[in-house]
Amino acid sequence: MITVDRHKCGHCGACVGVCPANAIELINRWIELSDECIECGACAKVCPVGALEILNEG
Ligand code: SF4
Ligand code: SF4
Repeated sequence: MITVDRHKCGHCGACVGVCPANAIELINRWIELSDECIECGACAKVCPVGALEILNEG
């Protein structure tokens, strides 16, 4: 799953634009992640502050 560190996020919106699954929304400076995420890692790569992280379960 993908997680966001809301203390790091600067609300730039870059992650929203790169997500191929449209799993990220930026609403009133608040990142919302949906379970549409396919864990491609694109958002984590593009985030300038490293606020997004893919956590492997198990
Ligand atoms: S890991 Fe990929 S699919 Fe998941 S939220 Fe990030 S860009 Fe979207
Ligand atoms: S790319 Fe990073 S800093 Fe920009 S909105 Fe997404 S999580 Fe926040």
